[in-house]
Amino acid sequence: MKLIRFGKPGQERPGVELESGEKLDVSSFTTDFNKDFFTNNGIEKLKEWLATNDAPIVNDLERLGCPVSNPSKIVCVGLNYAKHAEESGMSVPEEPVLFFKATTAIVGPFDNVMLPKNSLKSDWEVELAVVIGKKASYVPKNDAMDYVAGYVLHNDISEREYQLERQGQWVKGKSCDTFAPLGPYLVTKDEAPDPHNLDLWLKLNGETMQSSNTSDLVFDIPTLVSYISEFMTLLPGDIISTGTPFGVGLGLTPPIYLKEGDVMELGIDKLGVSRQKVIAFSE
Ligand code: ZN
Repeated sequence: MKLIRFGKPGQERPGVELESGEKLDVSSFTTDFNKDFFTNNGIEKLKEWLATNDAPIVNDLERLGCPVSNPSKIVCVGLNYAKHAEESGMSVPEEPVLFFKATTAIVGPFDNVMLPKNSLKSDWEVELAVVIGKKASYVPKNDAMDYVAGYVLHNDISEREYQLERQGQWVKGKSCDTFAPLGPYLVTKDEAPDPHNLDLWLKLNGETMQSSNTSDLVFDIPTLVSYISEFMTLLPGDIISTGTPFGVGLGLTPPIYLKEGDVMELGIDKLGVSRQKVIAFSE
């Protein structure tokens, strides 16, 4: 199943996208795709409900939002593709590098990305993100996939000066408003039975910048879920972004960074395509 949220920012309603591309409004089944929905086995119950109930069609012109409502956190994994570690001038880590991204950075898959005030080094990162389906604490690797609800396409926008040239943690360069376009939909894990063999790509103004496959992940999804759950409790709806492959702007000679008017288009097999236009800062 593909879960969507549609409507104006902050007023999104839950829906599903069918194989045909048609979208259905399921707000008479659930108020939202939030922590309670995932906690209460909402995906299975929604599937059953859809088999016997008619849901109204969603107009194709409706804006799409992030398919998960109010995740408690976004945990990101750094340097999780070997060639990306190399282009960043860093070595492949011996255990996962983790950092946070503020949830206030979340926007919809086709919303604009706004350059931060005085930003000169904003960059793109296509990533497969995992959505947690049930509360996870000290989860053994062998059981880790039981805690996964599904997957979503993420553009982990990053301001490299804030991330790397200012003091302290990467979180500074990852959390600006609009820096987490998520969607178009949450693909439930049954629809992507092998998440470790999916092509992922990103184009800037029509030119391919990133093109790789999730088979190149250094630490796979069960390893990440298990590892992160050693250090914090993951709640239903939480998002783990698994890292970006080679081909970011930072790694080019000379580097290329985002500017007003640029268009990023990105996609992952089975997880759909998103597109964001870059706009200048405004209050
Ligand atoms: Zn990233």
